[in-house]
Order: sequence, then C-alpha cells, then structure tokens
Amino acid sequence: MARFIFITGGVVSSLGKGLMAAALAALLQARGYKVRIRKLDPYLNVDPGTMSPYQHGEVYVTDDGAETDLDLGHYERFTGVPARQSDNVTSGRIYQGIIARERRGDYLGATVQVVPHVTNAIREFIAADLEPDLDFLICEIGGTVGDIESLPFIEAIRQFRNERGKDELGRPCSVSIHTTLVPYIAAAGELKTKPTQHSVRELTSLGIQPEILVCRTEHPLPDSDRAKIALFCNVRKDAVIPALDAKSIYAVPDQYHEAGLDAEVLRAFGIADAPEPEMARWDDVVDRLFNWESEVTIGVVGKYVGLPDAYKSLTEALVHGGLANRVKVRISWLDAELFEHPEADIPAQLEPLHGILVPGGFGERGSEGKIASVQFARERGVPFFGICLGMQMACIEGARNLAGLAGARSTEFGAADEPVVGLITEWMSPEGLQERREANGDMGGTMRLGAYEAVLAGNSVVHSIYGEDRISERHRHRYEVNIHYKNALEQGGLLFTGMSPDGALPEIVERPDHPWFVGVQFHPELKSKPFDPHPLFASFIEAAVKQSRLV
Ligand code: GLN
Repeated sequence: MARFIFITGGVVSSLGKGLMAAALAALLQARGYKVRIRKLDPYLNVDPGTMSPYQHGEVYVTDDGAETDLDLGHYERFTGVPARQSDNVTSGRIYQGIIARERRGDYLGATVQVVPHVTNAIREFIAADLEPDLDFLICEIGGTVGDIESLPFIEAIRQFRNERGKDELGRPCSVSIHTTLVPYIAAAGELKTKPTQHSVRELTSLGIQPEILVCRTEHPLPDSDRAKIALFCNVRKDAVIPALDAKSIYAVPDQYHEAGLDAEVLRAFGIADAPEPEMARWDDVVDRLFNWESEVTIGVVGKYVGLPDAYKSLTEALVHGGLANRVKVRISWLDAELFEHPEADIPAQLEPLHGILVPGGFGERGSEGKIASVQFARERGVPFFGICLGMQMACIEGARNLAGLAGARSTEFGAADEPVVGLITEWMSPEGLQERREANGDMGGTMRLGAYEAVLAGNSVVHSIYGEDRISERHRHRYEVNIHYKNALEQGGLLFTGMSPDGALPEIVERPDHPWFVGVQFHPELKSKPFDPHPLFASFIEAAVKQSRLV
C-alpha cells in the first residue's frame, strides 16, 4: 500500500514547491522506492489548456493526451516516470464531474455540497489509478494555504489523513510537508520566522499539523531560528529543513538530501531500514552542468520572449542537449515579430548564433519573422530545429522559396492559395478522414494531443539520431503539413523522413543538403531528461558545437 506525502505552501506563492516535490521524489527513487507525483490545482479551469502562456506558462502534455500544469514537466524530468491524466486535477475538473453526475440524477435527490461531495471527489482522485507496487505518492497542492479556493483541498487532505490513520505497525500512512518563506529584512539584518509561524497556525487551524517544514531562505537559517520555528510550530528541530536558493534546479535533489529532507520524511513514516540513496545519476548531471568545455548560443525565435515559463520544457531540453555534449547552452530569446519590420537587419541578429530554433506556437503574429529565420538558417547552413509550428514554418519557407509556391501559407492564419499547412479536414479525402476517424476517434479540426507513433525513413538523419525505426512522441496541435505538397517540397530538398504509421501525416522533415536541418510536428522537449537527454536535442547541440568552431 502506497504512503502519501502532501505538500502545501504558505506565506507566498512561487516557493518552488513543484521542484521540491520533484526533488523529494528523485531522492526516494534514489533509495530504491517507487514513486509517483500528483498535482491538485485549485483554480476553476478544467485544465490549463485554455490558459494563456502569459498567465500560466507552458502547458505540459502527457502521453495519454492530458494538458497539464508545467510542474508535471518537472516531476517527469526529475523522476523519468511518465505523467498521466490522472496526475493532475483542478477544481474545475472536480466540479465538472460532480455537476455532470448531478444532472444525470446520480445523487438521488440529495443536496450536493462541498463537504462531502467535493471533498470525496478530491479524496478519490488522490488515491485513484495507482500502481499496486507504488511506495510513495507525493501530492502537491497548488496555491497558498489560506486561499479561499484551496479550502476544499485542504479539508479533503485532513479527512484523508484522518481516515487512513496508521498502519498495523502503528506507522502513519501520510506525512504533511509545509513549505514557507523565511524572509530576510535587510534593514534589520535578520531573518524573520513570524510569517512561517502564522502560516503553520493557519494550516493547523484547518486540522493539519505538518510533520515537516521546508523553509525557503536567501540566507542560511541559523540553528536558533530552526529551534524557534520548531518550538512555535510543534515540529522537531531536525524537521525544520532549510532550503536556500540553488545554483541550478538540478542541484536541488542534492541540496535537499544534504539538508536532511528525505531522511526526515522516512523518519516521519517510521521507516528505519531505508537504503542510502544512490546519487551517481545526479552527481553526473551536476558535474556536467558545472564542468563544461565550451559554450554555444542558440537563438529561439518565438512569440513569448521574456517569458521563460512559456517555454519551460524547451529551455530544459536545450540544457540537457548541453549536458550530453558537455557544453554550456546560452539561449538568445528573439522576438519573431521584430524580423518582420521592413528595416530589420536579420543577419546582424542571427549571425552570432550557433543554432536557430523555432518553437511551437499558435496564431499568425510573428509567423513571417519565423519564416525569415528559417530562410536565414537554410541559406547560411546554420543548424536549424523547427518544433511543431516551427516545422510548419520550415515547410512554408521551402514551398515559397524552393518549390515556387509563392502563395504557400497555413490556413491557421486565414485563406491560403497554397494550403501547405491546414486542418486535415481541409485536405484529406472523405475516405481518408473516415478511416482515421475509425482508427483514432474524431479527428476533425480538434487538437491532436498526446503520444503518437511515427515511422522513420531508413537512410534519414533522424533515423541515425534515434537509432530506431519507430518512435513515439507527444503532440499538441490542430494543423498538419499537407501531404499533397510532399513531392513539391521534396523536389525543393525538404524530405519527409518521419510519417504517421498510416503514411497520411508528415511528422518529420529534414534537409540532407544542410549541416543540420530538422523539423518535427511533435514536441520532443516534453520527454527530455537531464540524465537522459533527448537524442534530437543532443544532436542539435552537437551540430551547434561544430558551427561554433566555424564562426
Ligand atoms: N498552431 C499550430 C497548430 O495548431 C502549431 C501548434 C504548436 O506549435 N504547438 O497546428
């Protein structure tokens, strides 16, 4: 039977609860335990799929096609455990299920209420769909204790803990970790523990006495402050874990281990015989991170410049590509719209780069600038990586400039003379559509989400990069490259080297006459890990290293 670890946050948001959850999971895993991490989000959106990247950062897509919180990306990067739809729930989804049941009459005339109906649904979610041999489920609660919208979640956890109680050996079935901030007041030259005391009081007033406190600070937490927090908050002094800002997120597992977090968690569960953690995997990552041999600069030509959370997985996958090659990857964020200005000096901006990446995106804004940067990379022989919208832009560039199709465009941006990119309902035959519907459910103009297989061409660059004939990668897009333009694009040197297994949808394009030019319809960044860099990112950065020796 799995043990449950609940992680709440107090004082302020952005305390790095998600990273703490991920790092704790990595540490328990390093001790040989099987872990899974879940996130409970108190907001009312059914999922973050409809939220702007400005509001919420990246939407992380799972194999089973769920659009989830970006923290699930951290969880997967730190543990390698593929996240699932059942690992992220929001108030919106909980209420949606309850209201649907109420409309069906499932409640048999009862009054449907937050307690017990909403709290029951939350409790069911926490324990649903778990592997029978799971050792620990870590459950992070979004938001901050004291928020109105998180109350049903805290109440559900209180009930859950109370109900599960202790096992037959008298050991607790759950542990609560509360994360707080210990601010430094420069004028007084002191760290202040009062916000932590208040936050723990708030949590205990809701019926949850945390066993462990994780205290984020910018300055080392003196022993006397740990003792004071322990006294006021009713926890052991050793269970007051100081958490200083880390040099890198990948140094966080090591730092929490040094601070005693995993040991305290095991102690709180009454587990005395845990193996010591095997940290070689993380030691190697940290070694590669800080002991690099050279540097490369990758230009990311996108829309959400200055908003790194919008490209969280992409940024990490580039870092991982650097780890694979022992180089430091610097990212130059470039606003695609600036390249559309008539006086824009595109070469001046792109010449210093060792690789150009056009990431995923939605909408027309900046698309001509992205196409211009594809053209620059192609003509100058600069390594080019196009992801999702980036691959679509690469196809339009090739169609316009090498296949003589001046009207090439994506129908996402309006009517097109040459719909090189479009909805499959716009370009697939009725029979083809019918077949796909039968095989994959409704495919008409809806988002293609989650893992799909692709078949790689034998002699292609991508085949040698993956070393496999068939791959599985995650998708999140509505539009597809139109297979009817295959011949025209291939004559222009852009080969279709990855296809959906039925041969209908182009998944990968590449230019064999170029040092490194690959476009993919999927999002490889979602599956990259620091200890297992995605092969496409490793290869792209390797090409950038070669490029850096030329310029
Ligand atoms: N907007 C494009 C589509 O929907 C690309 C999406 C993306 O890059 N994720 O097909």
